Amino acid sequence: MVPLKPYYLGIKEPEYPRVVTSQKCVRTNDIENVGRTARHHTFFEMLGNFSWGSYFKHEAITWAWEFLTERVGLDPERLYATIYLDDDEAYNVWHNEVGLPENKIFRFGQDDNYWFMGDTGPCGPCSEIYYDRGEKYSCGKPTCGVGCDCDRYMEIWNLVFTQFDRQKDGSLPLLPHKNIDTGMGLERLASVVQDVDTDYETDLFTPLIEYTCKRAGIKYGENAKNDMAVRVIADHVRSVAFMLADGVLPSNDGPGYVLRRLLRRAVRFGKLLNFDGLFVCEYLPILIDIMGDPYRELITQRPVIEQIINLEEEKFNKTLKQGTELFESEIAALKSKGLKEIPGDVIFTLYDTYGFPPELTREMAGEQDFSLDEDGFKIAMNQQRERARASSKQKKSALAGDVYTELENDYGSTVFTGYEKATDSGKILALLTPEGRVDSIKGSSEFEIILDTTPFYAERGGEVGDIGEMKINGLTLKILNTVPHGKIIAHTAKLESEGVINVGDEVVCFVNNERRSAIRRNHTATHLLHEALGRVLGRHVRQAGSLVTSEFLRFDFTHHSPMTDSEIADAERIINQEILNNVALDISEHTKDEAQALGAKALFDEKYGDVVRVVNVPDFSMELCGGLHVSRTGDIGAFKILREESIGSGTRRILATTGMNVLVMMQKLFALRNSLTALLMTDEDGLKDKAAALVEDLKVLKNQIQAAKLKELLENSERFLEREELDGVLLQTGRFPDIQANMLRDIGDKARARPEPNVVILASLSTDDNSCQLVVMADDNAVNMGINAGILVKEACAILGGKGGGRKNLAQGGGRDGARLEEALKKIHELVKTQISK
Ligand code: ATP
Ligand code: MG
Repeated sequence: MVPLKPYYLGIKEPEYPRVVTSQKCVRTNDIENVGRTARHHTFFEMLGNFSWGSYFKHEAITWAWEFLTERVGLDPERLYATIYLDDDEAYNVWHNEVGLPENKIFRFGQDDNYWFMGDTGPCGPCSEIYYDRGEKYSCGKPTCGVGCDCDRYMEIWNLVFTQFDRQKDGSLPLLPHKNIDTGMGLERLASVVQDVDTDYETDLFTPLIEYTCKRAGIKYGENAKNDMAVRVIADHVRSVAFMLADGVLPSNDGPGYVLRRLLRRAVRFGKLLNFDGLFVCEYLPILIDIMGDPYRELITQRPVIEQIINLEEEKFNKTLKQGTELFESEIAALKSKGLKEIPGDVIFTLYDTYGFPPELTREMAGEQDFSLDEDGFKIAMNQQRERARASSKQKKSALAGDVYTELENDYGSTVFTGYEKATDSGKILALLTPEGRVDSIKGSSEFEIILDTTPFYAERGGEVGDIGEMKINGLTLKILNTVPHGKIIAHTAKLESEGVINVGDEVVCFVNNERRSAIRRNHTATHLLHEALGRVLGRHVRQAGSLVTSEFLRFDFTHHSPMTDSEIADAERIINQEILNNVALDISEHTKDEAQALGAKALFDEKYGDVVRVVNVPDFSMELCGGLHVSRTGDIGAFKILREESIGSGTRRILATTGMNVLVMMQKLFALRNSLTALLMTDEDGLKDKAAALVEDLKVLKNQIQAAKLKELLENSERFLEREELDGVLLQTGRFPDIQANMLRDIGDKARARPEPNVVILASLSTDDNSCQLVVMADDNAVNMGINAGILVKEACAILGGKGGGRKNLAQGGGRDGARLEEALKKIHELVKTQISK
């Protein structure tokens, strides 16, 4: 609704004054009803019609009636209408024109029949259309009627008459013209038309419901608790798939958090049906079958949707079991104390350590009649935020945000002239130190300087801020960074020489233009890369973040698998071809709607103003962007991808560079090649074979050394073994550095061949990482006396922080904690004693 606000306020002419819509809606305010009632969903399709200054109440009501009774064919006898208390105009239309009897029209107050966009702005009374689904759906209460929360009288359509403009003081002047906004839930309409008990039995849901029942081996309608889980899963897979298809990614706030919550809730309800492993993606083909035709994004985005669901689900599965156990034991402990409230720190641990959204904990608690200590949870959350803040090294500015608001109020916005200029003059409006605003600066510590006009670009949209110099009365200021604060641009500065500068001084700015040109190249290249990835990998590729500096560009995007070498080469070829084409960029300003009509790519999370800047590389790429760009693609010089890697959750990252940096890199690589060919005495073509041969030789040599070592050890093993007699058994213990387990066994074989009953204990300590390998062997006589090498090794390895075991006469293992070897050997000696005595 919010994007349509200017049409209601009459400050913008809509292209069409009458519009019909089918909107994808995600709502979580009804979430506790989802699965319980017949009619609530977290994802639903809302059908609507709009009028801005065209038709009004009369048409909206009579057409709605005509649509429901004549087009859809609903029984008029079952329809009811509600209106706002004093809306006699609506009453007259319903009663006199539609012919609805007086006892079928209900007057309700503001809570039910008045619509507001926000605290201020467009609003108006509404009229809702209800359908009586019949006696059997009634809650049975004497008060049950239109407006009751139960499933008998179902609201299917809401007609809003948006005619007022609420002011801060609560007054309601008329809008310049009268408007209509209606919304009807497709799922609800379908359930009425198909005459089924709930929305979930319509053909929009049945394949999903049936699949769950089949997978869980249950029958729908036999057990209320199971049915709820079945419905919740069907609902949530829809919202999760559609949010992902629209570019939302799981996160800890905003839309991403709603997504994460819904997915985790679906997973938990799956566990209630004993679903093991990953299951959510199994619903995608079914969902695509039902909805993929009108909603192609489910198909084009399917790889991303699957990838991200699986990653999230896997992550949550890891902690779900432990979290549930913690939750259950907490409930048991509270029960035994007669308490009914889950403490805040428990909710916090579940959230922070186990990934349980607090809403999920609340719901699980509710199932057992427990409540949550919400205040305690808030305190725990705040403490964590404090901790995070304290440990965050990224102190962007030591200054309170208020100073900037104050400056914005005093001076409006800093004028930015940097699109055209790298040098410009300005006047100092304010000087800020960590203590606050000051009139003058002396000395050499860092401070912030704010001008009325600046050519310095402030970091934004992934592009780093400019650096450079300012000259003031013969003094030089070094500008270390430029950052935005609302509409104010702040320069981090340092005085290079002795002197004083004052508020009001005139300055001349010199942006470091060489660095800026490199930034321009990388920024335009980022746009080219975005488009090239779409061409090479598919249109599901979406920008998930970017960083543009003078040295490199970093581009994060949604994609499910590593790029192959040939995909990388293709992308590079496309981009370098576009650079060779030397196309002139066309940068222009537009309204948001115009930009959209032009087909400019906008970033999902980015908030744009009313006027947007469109960066167009003709016939190649068009994006909304406020950053600095080259004037022709040829200015980029060259483009090279340096690295492509995963950054989790179906998101990948490319590191690339342009211009002179490509040359520098090439020169470095050539220098490396030259030194390698000289070193290996071959030419470029022979390099690979030569290196492979060397590696192979090395392997052979290492084996030879090992063999020689072994030979020496075997011949002189007597010298390396400590001998000790223990209750008639000879214990032979040897400690070696860096010997492989198979060699230990050879040494052991030889030592074990002695005539007396004996046990051989051999350990090899790695000089690399101090890990330890252990082999224990016993001869037949020792075994007959009760020795079990398997147990000896198992216990010893536990001490070494590892695992091991085997048979009675031969066992081996190891551990990371070689420092505890003596302790482990002592344990073996003790165990040998007890084994013999038994
Ligand atoms: P209710 O009181 O039943 O929750 P509402 O007053 O929140 O409905 P509106 O905001 O007026 O509904 O939305 C318009 C229409 O959209 C409703 O008449 C209904 O058909 C549909 N709708 C609203 N919320 C949901 C939901 N959570 N699930 C399915 N359909 C919905
Ligand atoms: Mg509602």
